[in-house]
Amino acid sequence: MSLRLACVRSEVQQMAGYVPGCQPLPGTEIIKLNTNESPLPPSPEVVQAISQVLVDSALLRRYPDPYSQQLRRVAAGIAGCQPEQVIAGNGSDELLRIVLDTFVEEGERVAFFAPSYSLYPVLTKIRGGKAQVMPLFADGTIYQPQLDGVKLFFLTSPNAPLGFSFSNDYIRQMAKGFAGILVVDEAYADFAQDNALSLLPELDNLVVLRTLSKSYGLASLRVGLGFSSSPLIEQLDKVRDSYNLDRLAQVGAVAALKDQEYLRKTVALVVTERERLGVALEKLGFTVVPSQTNFIFVTPPSSHKAVDLYAGLEKAGILIRYFSDPQLAHGLRISIGTRDEMDQLIIVIKKLLAI
Ligand code: PMP
Repeated sequence: MSLRLACVRSEVQQMAGYVPGCQPLPGTEIIKLNTNESPLPPSPEVVQAISQVLVDSALLRRYPDPYSQQLRRVAAGIAGCQPEQVIAGNGSDELLRIVLDTFVEEGERVAFFAPSYSLYPVLTKIRGGKAQVMPLFADGTIYQPQLDGVKLFFLTSPNAPLGFSFSNDYIRQMAKGFAGILVVDEAYADFAQDNALSLLPELDNLVVLRTLSKSYGLASLRVGLGFSSSPLIEQLDKVRDSYNLDRLAQVGAVAALKDQEYLRKTVALVVTERERLGVALEKLGFTVVPSQTNFIFVTPPSSHKAVDLYAGLEKAGILIRYFSDPQLAHGLRISIGTRDEMDQLIIVIKKLLAI
């Protein structure tokens, strides 16, 4: 090992970095159903608002609002809480890192279910926390995990990559007996029937995370939102990079949040196509996990291996997500696209199954 590599923290040397889903270069002809982006562009209001900033380009030489104040106000209005209960992040990925840096001392335990979002163990390692992976199912059912000695729990609800939601009763029960912090990662909650924001007034150890990358079609701008009690948000804010959201991201996010009508239409399209795709794949012999998100996790009929279907689809220009993790390797995660994209997907799958 070179002398310089010896300077790297041992946790970092030993860990495997997070591997994001493939992002083909712009212009690549592909149906992209692998990283749960919106099938639609963002609201036209977003384009309008960002263009306005660019017209007055002198604004670009100034730093953006370090507190994302307007964004927090608008987000609070929609969530039904106070602006002091909101933090904005450079994607919810940054907020995950901020909560770890705020709450977790070196060596403390950070727990989460497996399968869930595979970034949690990576960020926990970087922080120097001890990742405690808990099986999602015990005897085929979801149970309340034993949280003694755990400092922070990441609960992905709806679960990614399986797509089902935890009920608010489940979340309440989990938080109430827990001495640590419960972070409910609601990246996909806009597509779900319920969410945990209504629990904020009763649970002082709850942090709810949202993203504008999915339902609002703003993955490129990198905007996430966190909601909690104002004293906890005050602490999280100290850990945040001062200018963590650039000006275009702030302006775009405000415009997107204000256009709730557009959000409703996007969600309605996704839900319609999600149900249609689920039914079509079930008819072809797939097992489909009922989804509350903008993706579905499906297991192909036993005659076909998930990995082979994944490769066949990729060859045909359709990118979906295959996880080699033994808990997930039997299935495939498919992001919901436009009606046309879903039709094309079904045609190719039928060909691959030789039906
Ligand atoms: N949480 C979950 C469960 C996710 O699937 C994602 C998207 N990969 C994120 C958080 C991060 O979203 P973003 O950083 O784009 O806001």
